[in-house]
Amino acid sequence: MITETHFKRLVIAAYRLPFQFIQTKKGVKAVQNSGGLVSAILSLSETFKKNGSGVKQKIVWAGIADNSSDNPSFVDVENEHFTIKPVKLPQELNDLYYGGFCNDLIWPLFHYFSSYSVFNNDYFKAYEEANSRFCDEIVALIQPGDFIWVHDYQLLLLPEMLRKRVPDATIGLFLHIPFPSFEIFRLLPRHWRESIINGMLGADLIGFHTHDYTQHFIKSVKRTTGIECHQNLIYTANKVVKADAFPIGIDYDKFHSACLNIKVLAAKQRILKNLLGQKLIFSVDRLDYSKGLLLRLQGYETFLENFPEWHSRVVFNMVVVPSRDTIDKYKEMKKEIESTVGRINGKYSTLAWRPIIYQYKSLSFDELVALYDVSDVGLITPLRDGMNLVAKEFVACQVENKGVLIVSEMAGAAAELNEALIINPVDHFVMAEAIRTALEMEPAEKLVRLERMQRRLSNYNVFTWADDFFEETSGIKRQQLSMNVKFINDAILLKITEDYRNASRRILFLDYDGTLVAFNKYPELAVIDKKPLEIVKRLTRDPRNRIVIISGRNKEFLERQFNQIDVTLVAEHGYFIKRGNELWEAAFDQEANWKESVMPILLEYVRRCNGTFIEEKTGSIAWHYRNADSDFAQLRLHELKDDLAEIIRHKTDFEILEGNKVLEVKCGKYDKGQAANALMLNDSFDFILAAGDDKTDEFLFKALPDVANTIRVGLSPSVAKYNVSEFSVLLKLLEALVA
Ligand code: UDP
Repeated sequence: MITETHFKRLVIAAYRLPFQFIQTKKGVKAVQNSGGLVSAILSLSETFKKNGSGVKQKIVWAGIADNSSDNPSFVDVENEHFTIKPVKLPQELNDLYYGGFCNDLIWPLFHYFSSYSVFNNDYFKAYEEANSRFCDEIVALIQPGDFIWVHDYQLLLLPEMLRKRVPDATIGLFLHIPFPSFEIFRLLPRHWRESIINGMLGADLIGFHTHDYTQHFIKSVKRTTGIECHQNLIYTANKVVKADAFPIGIDYDKFHSACLNIKVLAAKQRILKNLLGQKLIFSVDRLDYSKGLLLRLQGYETFLENFPEWHSRVVFNMVVVPSRDTIDKYKEMKKEIESTVGRINGKYSTLAWRPIIYQYKSLSFDELVALYDVSDVGLITPLRDGMNLVAKEFVACQVENKGVLIVSEMAGAAAELNEALIINPVDHFVMAEAIRTALEMEPAEKLVRLERMQRRLSNYNVFTWADDFFEETSGIKRQQLSMNVKFINDAILLKITEDYRNASRRILFLDYDGTLVAFNKYPELAVIDKKPLEIVKRLTRDPRNRIVIISGRNKEFLERQFNQIDVTLVAEHGYFIKRGNELWEAAFDQEANWKESVMPILLEYVRRCNGTFIEEKTGSIAWHYRNADSDFAQLRLHELKDDLAEIIRHKTDFEILEGNKVLEVKCGKYDKGQAANALMLNDSFDFILAAGDDKTDEFLFKALPDVANTIRVGLSPSVAKYNVSEFSVLLKLLEALVA
């Protein structure tokens, strides 16, 4: 059971409601849908019922209600701890949204069947429209303090839509299918992939089944948006978002204990009677190309071919659960499976033995559990599967008869089931060999393997999974809050403007890139806009102000940007200072020819890392990697630092300076902090403000006295007193000062 709760109300947004409404003679009946999530959430509502703590906890589930929204049978399933919010979509919209974008594009693409993907603009429009209708329904029902949990690939735009309307909502998102590698994800048109990534980043926590999917997502965030990520944390403009792996579990006890139910025991007896002592290989999957059904048949055929001693001693019961079989591709697949089964049975059957028993139907829970338990081998070999619950259920149900699981390495579940026989589903020789190994495995070995897996699945079941997700969401919310404390809010803004007004002598240090102008792909194109320039000009008009532009840029560039304006310019991180109309002064005399030893190394790295370039300044050389693949650039960055460390050991006045996507080598000990100290020497100020966006500004923040209003633009950790989300917010603050 879920032990700890982190909310009073849990609002679930999922494409489907957890019930189907079926017409019977006695009227419409609600039948619970299968699946771990449904059983976890419904059990949670049962826990709320039993919980006598006095706190009324509740679950609200919003989803599509197969045309039965006005259905009186809702009464059967609703109670004071659980309600349903049916979301209605017109049939035509649903066809384009669910049948189209979700199942003809995202499903095949995210399962690496890119050639099956259909790219259609109307599908995407319908996807946006359907997500926005979900958003309307949820906004209408949520209350302060609710925990909103969005599920799966049908609702990837929803978190951001909700965030825009309810900025402080708590939102978790869980993706139940794989998140593919960036090379696959990038096949989506740019606008769609940006919308999907931004849509997902509206959540506070984003969960995936495996570490690999999480890494693929983070890589796609970096490549699609350029947003800064540190490990699993993604620093968006206004909050930090966490992405992490939460492998979904099953309701282990339900499956394990069912094996000894009277009905299941009876079902097992029936199966064993029909088996006549033959060994049983079992598989059950929905009809889908991701499940590798044909390849599995090929693997079994190879087994029959290579190991004839097993003829008549084994049967393979392949159950395929009907799914989407009105669609041509699925119809064709079904035909092909059935003809392959027919061919293999035709080739190997005898009067007394049929090697494959094929069934195209759904199984009842009791039948399913009975089959799991009596089977000697579970042959679960999808070509690609987000998790695959069948593999876990099979393990949980090895109670009376101890069987062996063969599982595909392409299933998310393989990461947790290391004691299974893990195979590549494409390699039918290996599959055949694994079937033989499984059938001939010693009971003691089977037991060791099973016990380890069972222990793991019983410890990390679907309740622990949900609990873990809630706990992590609370954690990231706390982290956001602790960062929020530093965000400049209205009260802080008022205090800063008041202090500014009351001051008689002020100094303002303003960094240039990322602080007064947005980043540009090419530094020379990042020229200052009219608006920030006007604000700077107005600041300089007040005789009580001294405005310092403090930048890593060279002298010439800064002079061009602030021509005819009465500012102090600090260029190259403090190497040069120009006070108003005076001439530039260098901080010290630099050693001649120092660049000769460094330049060849940096040029080598431009060659070794596509997209990087060099900016040569008087006092330093910078290697910019903002336009390179971020992971590759990180690798090269480490190597470059190693190479430079060699030189620095011999030349003690060389220094490495790291900024935002730039590494700079300089000769001599100077930084923005020292420049600021020099400018404040022999002078006193009763108002100090400093704003900057990268690591080089940290020297400035550290050097200033405690009373200074130091502001880091962006969300990165900083010694600054405050953060603002982006440079436009800083401009508003400066505007407020001159207002
Ligand atoms: N299942 C079912 N009806 C059946 C056979 C299986 O509902 O006739 C259930 C099975 O117990 C499992 C789920 O369907 O929980 C299949 O989940 P899995 O992750 O293996 O595959 P998916 O269908 O979600 O791709």
